[in-house]
Amino acid sequence: MADAPIFDPAAFRLTPLEARLTAQVREFGQAVLAPRAPRWDREASFPTENYRDMHANGLLGVCIPAAEGGIGADYRAYSLAAAEMGRYCGATALTWNMHVCSTLWSGPLSDDLEIDAATRAEHHRRRGLHYARILGDGAVYAQPFSEGGAAAAGTAAFGTTARRVPGGYVVTGKKIFASLAGHADFYGVLCTETREGEDALSRRNTLYLAIPRDAPGVAVEGAWDPLGMRGTVSRNLVFRDTFVEEDAALMPPGLYFQAATRWPHMFLTLSPTYMGLGQAAYDFTVAYLRGEWPGMPPVKRRMYPTKQIAVAEMRVMLEQTKALWFQSISEARPDPTKDQVLRAWAAQHTVMENAAALAAKAVRTCGGQAMLKSLPLERIYRDARCGSLMLPWTAELCIDRIGREALYERGETDA
Ligand SMILES: Cc1cc2nc3c(=O)[nH]c(=O)nc-3n(C[C@H](O)[C@H](O)[C@H](O)COP(=O)(O)OP(=O)(O)OC[C@H]3O[C@@H](n4cnc5c(N)ncnc54)[C@H](O)[C@@H]3O)c2cc1C
Repeated sequence: MADAPIFDPAAFRLTPLEARLTAQVREFGQAVLAPRAPRWDREASFPTENYRDMHANGLLGVCIPAAEGGIGADYRAYSLAAAEMGRYCGATALTWNMHVCSTLWSGPLSDDLEIDAATRAEHHRRRGLHYARILGDGAVYAQPFSEGGAAAAGTAAFGTTARRVPGGYVVTGKKIFASLAGHADFYGVLCTETREGEDALSRRNTLYLAIPRDAPGVAVEGAWDPLGMRGTVSRNLVFRDTFVEEDAALMPPGLYFQAATRWPHMFLTLSPTYMGLGQAAYDFTVAYLRGEWPGMPPVKRRMYPTKQIAVAEMRVMLEQTKALWFQSISEARPDPTKDQVLRAWAAQHTVMENAAALAAKAVRTCGGQAMLKSLPLERIYRDARCGSLMLPWTAELCIDRIGREALYERGETDA
């Protein structure tokens, strides 16, 4: 039986594009991604077949503007679609996000920001090169920014540097947790441009460069055997004096810094996967307690009051999570109000923590047989636990920021 939408198009007043896209991803997820998901998890291997199919069905170009050959989804349409994908394969949805951000940030998001006409024209020419690779060749882009220090938290400049040389840049540095390492065709690396005569690295000089996987000096290092999200293959990436040409820029110099300060919801895009995982934990529980999970004996467990209470509590948590998240993805825009930013942090915190809480409750409520590896619940449980750790908006950092910003206006001190 086909799953119901997470966000019913009529009830949530989705646009026609959102209704179409979420239906497409849900059907694809249920029919194609879900049966393959156990394999990527067991092997900690990358879902290459999924990406081939996503090239064929257009999903690699979901946020490429329609005028440039893509589906033309905006921020909200993409987020809703990614939540549907997260229901069926967390690792594919999370890595899809890394890929999609290379087009969302260079596409609709950049179009909202201020740059002079000549720079914009050049940016459009360059992003056209990247979009042609994605749409034509099925090129997949990763998004390694984490380095193990404060840079990924957004409070320091990236230690990976880019030095300008004739025709391009020379990049040096190391990224940790680079999802799609060894499998993406291009690594969309956030790094800091070093300037002649300036010793200190500045966040203002952040560059976003797409480095080809086979460029000299690129190496994938380290093992990958994590608790959850195993199919993301998030190994370390090292760049040793790697030359990239100027056309590698996914954003013009200075634009990433402008985006990070003016378009904060750009950091909320890790949450859709976990919105989907929370829904998946709930769906599994209902089907299992009704004795309807495919392949399991039709034993009903729904008549026990304690299980009914647990499901009711899960439903309340799911509805709270959906409502806050839907509001937040609906108000993503440049220069949001302070309230909207606080709400975005609250939404990220809520989705990440509640996905893990819903999965934990599902395991306890469904009982022993439900946590066997032949069923998806234990994978959902492990995958969901990873959401709160994602920088720059970890659950802890969201709480830190909400507390501080709620109590202090800009520039206020206690001195
Ligand atoms: C499955 C998975 C996939 C991932 N994929 C990617 C990816 O594709 N690309 C990518 O770039 N990253 C990715 N990450 C990395 C993720 O976003 C984090 O950067 C990573 O989990 C941080 O690990 P850590 O042990 O260095 O964290 P932490 O030690 O928690 O944080 C690193 C640094 O951030 C700062 N920090 C942390 N907490 C606070 C705080 N409360 N207050 C102030 N500063 C703080 C500190 O300077 C700290 O040293 C992935 C992570 C996971 C789990």
